[in-house]
Amino acid sequence: MSSDPYDYSLSEPDKPAKAIDSGLYIVATPIGNLADMSHRAMEMLQAADLVAVEDSRVTGKLLHHLGLKKRMRPYHDHSSDADRDALLAVARTGVVVLVSDAGTPLISDPGYKLVRAAREAGIAVSTAPGASAVIAALSISGLPTDRFLFAGFLPSRAKARADAIAEIGNVKSTLVFYESGPRLGATLAALSEQLGGRQAVVARELTKKFEEVVSGALPELAERYAAVEPKGEIVLIVGPPGEAQVEQGDFEAALKAALEVLPPARAAKEIAKRFGVDRAEVYERAMALKSGA
Ligand code: SAM
Repeated sequence: MSSDPYDYSLSEPDKPAKAIDSGLYIVATPIGNLADMSHRAMEMLQAADLVAVEDSRVTGKLLHHLGLKKRMRPYHDHSSDADRDALLAVARTGVVVLVSDAGTPLISDPGYKLVRAAREAGIAVSTAPGASAVIAALSISGLPTDRFLFAGFLPSRAKARADAIAEIGNVKSTLVFYESGPRLGATLAALSEQLGGRQAVVARELTKKFEEVVSGALPELAERYAAVEPKGEIVLIVGPPGEAQVEQGDFEAALKAALEVLPPARAAKEIAKRFGVDRAEVYERAMALKSGA
């Protein structure tokens, strides 16, 4: 056994693989730190007759690191039925492992059609669960986690992105997005414009050397990242409507000021947007203020 505490290769790669029933195994791999590779994930890879991969260079490096040599076959969202059939033919009597470049397969990664086809064909499907950036980021964001909506990557085109934000903006859940450095500024600007002052978190390079978690209201973050394009991989989290850290005094003062110049519905709309809170609740408070409550 290696004495290096950071050597996560299988301690005895030549040892016969643990007997694992035939089927399709969805195996999570680390999102940055190789020490997050689970023991079961390693056992499943060791037992694999075939590893379905996004990129054989990326998975090849991981297998090499684990001291394993395995037959690999590319698998993508646009893989054909014939590609799936070929993988499932092996899974009927052997062990097929699906991995993605990093994290949990199928989460903004290929695999859903393969799992569906395996289930329809009566082939056992099981998993070695593990790292996924969405869960890792949520768990350290400090934003509510009881209800969250994972929306993957927003579209890059402004109109499609605005439509997607409008579609989910009022859902009473924390929103989670995957994002890239070059697009972050534009995405934050659009979110700030449409969702107002909601609290948000930019979680970058999780589990890696330059891990960073920055929180603030959407307009603050939009300003910060308009000026600097961050490097690395990013999860962007936006708190639910009404969860903004609103100072009650500021809110009341702003609403009263708005009511002096605008009708209640318009005032409620403006203030709800500015403070990132629910419009109906603001309207209710506006009507109460109007009636002298
Ligand atoms: N299947 C993966 C998972 O379970 O997290 C996600 C794959 S998706 C193609 C890749 C995106 O996940 C990146 O663009 C980034 O938004 C996010 N991501 C992956 N690793 C990350 C990390 N270490 N820190 C922050 N975000 C990460």
